[in-house]
Amino acid sequence: MRIYLLIGFIAILLIGCGKPIKGVQDDAFKAYIEHFETMQNVSTEFTSVTFIDSIQDDPNSQYYTIGYCDPNTNSVKILKSFWDTAPNSERRTVIMHELGHCVLNLDHDDQLNNRWSDGCPNSFMNSILMDSWCYDLRYGKDQFSE
Ligand SMILES: [Zn+2]
Repeated sequence: MRIYLLIGFIAILLIGCGKPIKGVQDDAFKAYIEHFETMQNVSTEFTSVTFIDSIQDDPNSQYYTIGYCDPNTNSVKILKSFWDTAPNSERRTVIMHELGHCVLNLDHDDQLNNRWSDGCPNSFMNSILMDSWCYDLRYGKDQFSE
């Protein structure tokens, strides 16, 4: 009996690995996701991007988390309360950042002033959300700039 169950389990795993599952993307993110795909020349169709109502932070942290990528499920979660009050420029940057993790497999780049002398992070992959001024300086103005 046990061996049959095991074979069944392996078969399900193989089926599961065969084809990536298309991601569910909330319509609110559409323009930002398209922007990322254009900028990076990649498809995000297998990555989910959806809202989450709360994210548990370390109570001792001076920062709070506004989004994350779960690499195991290839899904991005964006804090709804952040999104509802954020300017378009910040929405753009958080989507760039989280899709950078989930789609491009990028890690954090927390260097400041490596090549630049303006006090801005080197990359949208910095753990701290880049402000609009820094983003424009690095990547140029776009439709989400202020
Ligand atoms: Zn990150």
